[in-house]
Amino acid sequence: MAKSMISVEQAETLIAQQIKPTQIINCSLGNAVGQVLRTEVCAERDEPPFDRVMMDGIATHHGAFNKGRRRYGVQAVQAAGEPPQQLKSDDACIEVMTGAVLPTGCDCVIPVEDIEISEGHAELRDGVTPKAGQFIHRRGSDRPRGTRVLEAGTLLGATEVAVLAAAGQASVPVARRPRISVISTGDELVDPGRPIAPYQVRRSNPYGIVAALSVAGFTDIHSAHLPDEPVVMRREIEAQLSQSEVLVLSGGVSMGKHDHVPAIMDAMGVTVHFHCVAQRPGKPLWFGTGPDGQLVFALPGNPVSVLVCLYRYVLPALEHMLGKTSGLLERVKLADAVEFAAKLTWFLPIRLRASTDGQLQAQPNPPNTSGDLTSLAGTDGFVGLAAEKKQFPEGYVAPLFRWRPPAMARTGHVKHD
Ligand code: AMP
Ligand code: MG
Repeated sequence: MAKSMISVEQAETLIAQQIKPTQIINCSLGNAVGQVLRTEVCAERDEPPFDRVMMDGIATHHGAFNKGRRRYGVQAVQAAGEPPQQLKSDDACIEVMTGAVLPTGCDCVIPVEDIEISEGHAELRDGVTPKAGQFIHRRGSDRPRGTRVLEAGTLLGATEVAVLAAAGQASVPVARRPRISVISTGDELVDPGRPIAPYQVRRSNPYGIVAALSVAGFTDIHSAHLPDEPVVMRREIEAQLSQSEVLVLSGGVSMGKHDHVPAIMDAMGVTVHFHCVAQRPGKPLWFGTGPDGQLVFALPGNPVSVLVCLYRYVLPALEHMLGKTSGLLERVKLADAVEFAAKLTWFLPIRLRASTDGQLQAQPNPPNTSGDLTSLAGTDGFVGLAAEKKQFPEGYVAPLFRWRPPAMARTGHVKHD
């Protein structure tokens, strides 16, 4: 199939075409933060559900004030959570607490600061002129019962969890998160903490990948490392294909003699959708699907390529699987001019800085090579610079991809213009 080099936009489309949403599971409210809601949620009752007292003080009938009354007998106390009491006469008032139901017969709440209470009477302080209807939050004035308060596809943060609780939802339907296998390949790689020879390389990719996935809420992860040995590789990848819905490999996907991944995938019946994207870093990116629709991303091993491809393609694809609504595509202005002659989309690491006019600016922080992982420390993400252009002046507006939060959902096209 499509072995020739394709554009970033074509790669996105080919990935999106293979994505099927995961099942819906029921999630208790206490575990809902970070989950993707899969149904709309409506207001359980009118909001507020009753005429609600907004201040601690007294409730009265305003007509009495109009007739000159300034002193009221305290008839009763109406606390929050109690059924409404009835005001018995115009010369009386009921002490009320914030959040209480407005007592029947009252149409005015006078705050405690405006009154003096002694010997069973409340008296208005000098100069206090209450208005009819003041400090009453009328039933249904925010929204009527049945109004949609959350849409399907919402990523549940703290605000949304509180809104769900207010809507009376003890549990909610959310997207099941897929099981993911993270597989690194390469004979040269040695884990941190192990003795290392001068010609060997620290194994960093799976640590970065697993960290990015878990920050994004994907915790059902199996991680494995494979030598550049086709028989062993095939056995393990086959095992992971049978257990996982998404495979994220790193290394072994370029044109080198020991880059066995594409041939192994082919032998296992994984359908390739593309191999090579017109981008830097990460040109050899490979994407395929297994016999049961498993998504297989084989990322080129260079550590900068791995992280860029993960944030640019893999995390958005995972959010698409969860049915998350596409987020806002952020754009930023370059703080400095840059030049890039190759006809490739350039994913340029940047640091964000706030300018005095309130606009976020992206300070270019190009790595020396796509192996220059350490240069990413302290960057905030990267911008995508269009393949068709060479010169990107200061102030050039480019799409922003942040390392944190991990992936704003971008399931549609992002044009790098
Ligand atoms: P490959 O794509 O396998 O040709 O790898 C490209 C480069 O990335 C080589 O210099 C590898 O040593 C390096 N590399 C591959 N995998 C990792 C990894 N897990 N951690 C750090 N570097 C890696
Ligand atoms: Mg390798």
